Amino acid sequence: MRGGLASAHARGLLQASTAPPDPLWTAVEADVFLTLEHSGRTRAIDRNRVLSYFTGMAIRPIITLPDPLLRKVSQPIERVDDDLRRLMDDMLETMYAAPGIGLAAVQLGVPRRLLVIDVAEDEEERQPFCLVNPEIVALGDGMRLHEEGCLSIPDVRVEIERPASLTVRYTDREGVRKELEASGLLATAIQHEINHLDGKLIIDFLSSLKRDMVVRKFKKQARATEAL
Ligand SMILES: [Zn+2]
Repeated sequence: MRGGLASAHARGLLQASTAPPDPLWTAVEADVFLTLEHSGRTRAIDRNRVLSYFTGMAIRPIITLPDPLLRKVSQPIERVDDDLRRLMDDMLETMYAAPGIGLAAVQLGVPRRLLVIDVAEDEEERQPFCLVNPEIVALGDGMRLHEEGCLSIPDVRVEIERPASLTVRYTDREGVRKELEASGLLATAIQHEINHLDGKLIIDFLSSLKRDMVVRKFKKQARATEAL
């Protein structure tokens, strides 16, 4: 259904923009708009999300539980162009500001298969990776336990055991297909972020009882915020 208020609104924004509209992103943003409207969120919030993309604002809002977009399977990206690189830059800025070590595009409300990661320590130089359409092609034998947090589930930490090393195939910032062998925290972060692209969250590693408790807490918080 594309004829509703939301898509009319998106068209208006596109026309007002000085940047030439890109058909892929027009479709992406319209999708985001419709999904959010169906989820009952206010249009004022949706509008800011779309606006931030066109005005080149660097730090963008991160969606949090229980936003249903977090459960959506992100769609593959067809080409790497300047619009996508701008989104990568926004994602990196947003991740560094949070601060975090990884972010998936869907966490900014764009359900496309893109993630950014930088696991460098504070005193080290930044080592950002932008992974488009990432696929894990091999997993190592060893396991690694890590207490993971998630920018979309503030203040919740979950101990998760995942393969300690892996090989990931992806398209880079320049559109070149590459392979990366990762281990340690980088391997953990890549698996966490690829989970986001498939609608999977760290709370899915909890028992259903604990998971329900976390979800209930966030639903209650969201209701309290809306009531303000
Ligand atoms: Zn996360």
